[in-house]
Amino acid sequence: MYDIIIKGGRIVDGSGEKPFIGDIAVVKNRIVKIAGEINESAKKVIDARGKTVTPGLIDGHTHSELNVMYNRQQPHAVYQGITTIVTGQCGLGFAPTTPEGLKRSLRMNGGIFADQGKYLPAWSSFAEYLELLGGAAVNVASNVSHNAIREYALGFADQKLTGDRLETAKEELEKAMLSGAVGLSVGLSYYPGGFSDTEEIVELCKVVKKYDGIFCVHQRLNDGQIPRTSLEEVVKIVEETGVRLNMLHYRTGGLEDYRSVFEPFAELEKQGAEIHYEFYPYLVGAGLLLALLPGWAQEGGYDKIMERLSSASLRDKLLADMRERHKYFFAEGQTARVALTKDKYADSIGKTLREISEEHQETFQETVIRLLLENELEAGFVGVENQTEELKEKLYDDQYRLFTDDRYTVGSDTIPEGVLCHPRTFGAFSRTVRMMRERGVPVEYIIRKLSALPAEIYHIRDRGMLKEGNYADICIMDYERLRDQADFENPRRRAEGIETVLVNGLPVLENGEMTGILSGECVKRGQV
Ligand SMILES: [Zn+2]
Repeated sequence: MYDIIIKGGRIVDGSGEKPFIGDIAVVKNRIVKIAGEINESAKKVIDARGKTVTPGLIDGHTHSELNVMYNRQQPHAVYQGITTIVTGQCGLGFAPTTPEGLKRSLRMNGGIFADQGKYLPAWSSFAEYLELLGGAAVNVASNVSHNAIREYALGFADQKLTGDRLETAKEELEKAMLSGAVGLSVGLSYYPGGFSDTEEIVELCKVVKKYDGIFCVHQRLNDGQIPRTSLEEVVKIVEETGVRLNMLHYRTGGLEDYRSVFEPFAELEKQGAEIHYEFYPYLVGAGLLLALLPGWAQEGGYDKIMERLSSASLRDKLLADMRERHKYFFAEGQTARVALTKDKYADSIGKTLREISEEHQETFQETVIRLLLENELEAGFVGVENQTEELKEKLYDDQYRLFTDDRYTVGSDTIPEGVLCHPRTFGAFSRTVRMMRERGVPVEYIIRKLSALPAEIYHIRDRGMLKEGNYADICIMDYERLRDQADFENPRRRAEGIETVLVNGLPVLENGEMTGILSGECVKRGQV
């Protein structure tokens, strides 16, 4: 007797092969049989006739590092058919740590992670942290993050990581890899990671390579325009260590040919390097306001930053350097909306930085400084998609071309916090399916890109494909109806079209409603 049989659905198994009509039987947390027809009995039969049955989708890029511990249902993901998330991207993360270190890091990252008073369980090592990620509605895997490792070894100092401190960092990284981290992420436009030099990252990547983990890169001063100099650094690191590479939120930014994104890595690929790329299907990003400050202003962490922001004697230099840094974040004519502030009812939420600076008769940079001070650094923004129609069309066309390149996948870059979060949190995956379906990309190709491929990249074992013996992470959807509903005005609208989602053999979503079951596990890097 089986626990569950899913009957008569159109099975898209994640391998990229053509769909077929069939039944799937589940016992406990595993898929035990897939066949044209299964006639034995089961405790529960799900009628999937007329529906599409796929593997649970895998989102390789989220910032649910903390959110998943108190928002265990993760509805933004489940309503898109996502059953496994990877967190600890862009160099952001909080393990290993100490009680004081965690407090310091939270204060520095309030613009993304928000609400510093929220209850969190205690951890110090990466291994302890990883265990705490189990027990949500989705499975969670995690990178170890460069910022956490560096903060642990050196605090927020603008110094080279050398000698004993470098050894400490490498030891902690090694322990994290041994306890199941999928890889290492860097976010070199954030601090303290941004204080590093290339040598430091080469040293760390040697450890990642030893365990065949993935090296995930958010470039130095990433402005979406793909600055070539920061890519030379990445090429050098891969060349010297042979580490597997995944370029995060990496796509075209303007009128260049889409193929140019691959050029910096062409030589490496010829030499056999394993390189992957990802993007999310929108034209602007999101982040913390603090990132608009130059590195010297962030040295030392929270107290020193607040002092510098209030200092009259540093004001001119700060404003000048912010103007310089600004152009790396926003293209000409672009602005951003305030998405997250310490005061959830602040009237700045939803206004653009330009509107606020006009209201207060101050420059853009002065607005940023004031908002950071008023909110004790806890302020975040979401970009405004105000490109010309012609450019929008070009950029979405590029996204289609990148998606249909075998090296590319999609990562949502979910940031669940913020009154006005980026719509990618509730919509990136369902939007990808909708956009690519509308352009005629076959269902089996789309699903593979969002399930089996990320499982391969992150070495997530026994998930990402409907296969006998694999975990029963299964999604039943009305494929033609699957679409995103979140937009920049209403970013928390859930996606439509996902009907039932099994995670480890239990339904976390059934007939379009969350069940409250929390059957997700923490996922450790598999040996492949
Ligand atoms: Zn990033």
